[in-house]
Amino acid sequence: MTELQQEKLVIIGGGPAGLTAAIYGARAGLAPIVLMGPEPGGQITISSEIENFPGFPEGINGFDLMQKMIEQVEKLNGRLVYEVVEQVRFAQKPYLIQTDGGQYQTETVIVSTGASPRKLGLLRERDLIGSGISYCATCDGAFFKEQVVAVVGGGDVALEEAYYLTKFCAKVYIIHRRDQFRGTQILIERVKNNPKIEILWDSEVKELLGENKLSGIIVENNRNGVQTELKDVRGLFIAIGYLPNTDLFKNELELSKKGYIVTDRKYMTNKEGIFAAGDVQDPDYRQIITSAGAGAAAAIEAGRYIDRLN
Ligand SMILES: Cc1cc2nc3c(=O)[nH]c(=O)nc-3n(C[C@H](O)[C@H](O)[C@H](O)COP(=O)(O)OP(=O)(O)OC[C@H]3O[C@@H](n4cnc5c(N)ncnc54)[C@H](O)[C@@H]3O)c2cc1C
Repeated sequence: MTELQQEKLVIIGGGPAGLTAAIYGARAGLAPIVLMGPEPGGQITISSEIENFPGFPEGINGFDLMQKMIEQVEKLNGRLVYEVVEQVRFAQKPYLIQTDGGQYQTETVIVSTGASPRKLGLLRERDLIGSGISYCATCDGAFFKEQVVAVVGGGDVALEEAYYLTKFCAKVYIIHRRDQFRGTQILIERVKNNPKIEILWDSEVKELLGENKLSGIIVENNRNGVQTELKDVRGLFIAIGYLPNTDLFKNELELSKKGYIVTDRKYMTNKEGIFAAGDVQDPDYRQIITSAGAGAAAAIEAGRYIDRLN
């Protein structure tokens, strides 16, 4: 049995939200410890180019940006611990956090375990992320100026992404496995009336073409089994939902219907002293800058909370 460590502030998750919270926490003298989890640096480490994070006019790749955030935390003496949280006990204080390498007791926690885009599960889907496969039109749409792209999905997010992409792209296919959309009527009308959008109903992507870069897709009509090769598609935006990483907190914190952690405007959850920031509590924006902003605010609020305790 590992020794129980007493901590002032434990941050669960080492993506933009958690690392920014650590920068603010460290500078405020809260001696934060960050439990980095299975993906140190967070989901953006798999992205090759980021053009929308302020301060980098030439763009920066995801791994390098997160490496800089990690260095900044280390320089400020924030402690980064490369362990994965396996269980939490938030029923009463002090709160208990069990990882694959240790046990931590604390009165103040920031949860920033992020979210993961749902994958289609196609062969080489992960390898082609950043080389034609994307889960975020706001992030990557501008890389496909005047090209043909496709969006997979039939809900509001897919419809919004498709509409957004028409601003840059020559043509946008929407590939939906049913014969009607689930989205709101106004969005449905908007995509149906847009001359740049072609909707492929009852259709599913079966294969990704191209070696190192997407150079087409094979789509199958699920009613008649007919397969079509779309040779001109260079970008495939998969918009079939996000899964917040909240399994650990199911019986410990209030979650929304979609599984996101519910917080008040000051990022406090339904448990006193437990805050949440970033993609894990934000179903709407899911950006590096907004996650980092939420992490900063949560750390400021955590500091105020610790002051009140003392
Ligand atoms: C391919 C791709 C491209 C993107 N491009 C852009 C872009 O260009 N611009 C932009 O602004 N946004 C982009 N995004 C979105 C952006 O990456 C996210 O909004 C942002 O990373 C969210 O930060 P976060 O800290 O909330 O969560 P995440 O980055 O998801 O980090 C979550 C952290 O929690 C940790 N964790 C999870 N489970 C546990 C556990 N059990 N124990 C301990 N730790 C745990 C993980 O290890 C990780 O460190 C992109 C996303 C993807 C997937």
